[in-house]
Amino acid sequence: MLAIAIAISVATNCGGDEAVEAPRASAPDTATIRPTVRTETPVPTATLNVAGCHSPRRADERYRVVAQDEGAQDYVGAVEAALAKAIEHAGSVYGWTPLEPICAHLFSHDDSFVQGLQQVAALSPNFAAGIGDRGGINGVDSHTGNDAIFLNLSAVRSVPFIATHEYPHIVQGYVEHGAAPIWFLEGISEWEAGRLQGDPNPTWISSFVEIAHAGGEPELSRLVNGHQWLELNEPVPAYFKVRLALMYLERIAGPEAAPSLLRDENIVDPLVDFEPAFRILTGMTVDEFDDQLLPFAEELIAGSG
Ligand SMILES: [Zn+2]
Repeated sequence: MLAIAIAISVATNCGGDEAVEAPRASAPDTATIRPTVRTETPVPTATLNVAGCHSPRRADERYRVVAQDEGAQDYVGAVEAALAKAIEHAGSVYGWTPLEPICAHLFSHDDSFVQGLQQVAALSPNFAAGIGDRGGINGVDSHTGNDAIFLNLSAVRSVPFIATHEYPHIVQGYVEHGAAPIWFLEGISEWEAGRLQGDPNPTWISSFVEIAHAGGEPELSRLVNGHQWLELNEPVPAYFKVRLALMYLERIAGPEAAPSLLRDENIVDPLVDFEPAFRILTGMTVDEFDDQLLPFAEELIAGSG
């Protein structure tokens, strides 16, 4: 059973290619950059270390970090430290650690990132180009078949933060039983990155309050599948909101609430099964919970003032 579960997880977690029906856990991320779709696909020019993860592993090797261009070399140590911490933390909270090393490929330019998404992650040229200015994506290293993280260092404010955000998406692919909504999965990733790495944007809660008062944040109930996330014109408010949602969930339902929802075997269809399980834990529908997030943010600001 274990081998079957892993094979399915890898297949559904492979890089957010548009050919995949529901790339829920593979949505690209950035905390700082708006997505734009390029009209031209860059011609691959850099010499990448595409097989950088394809050498014998050490017995206890949990991750391997590969600098794919010269500018990325300086960040290898920081990503190794972030992954070591994230892997240890997820092992205790979600009960999963990788059997094969996670490959983290680092790129210091949009163009080498797009090239790497094609040559290492095996994404289509158009899809890769469309997410070329995002900060990161999880997927599969096509040379080893292992789970992988692809980071565009030019597009992120904090490299350890984004590396720590991407790792839980890999864990989610193995731990969840079918179909948690994307707001919940992205919220877990943002919440874990924030608590393990601190925050690259310390005023994010105030920013959220400002955006929410202007009506600029999306409803959680409209963020169910990965396509809805990818279609956001303004992803930053959504990242703020889903992180706040996970903080609030922990406040009202305790630290075990998110891991237990993620592992809930009864959640097979995100549109049907998540809500009843969520309601048992919180006493609220997702919409009622959503309505509490702005007051919660204001309470946090008042409490820290
Ligand atoms: Zn994410």
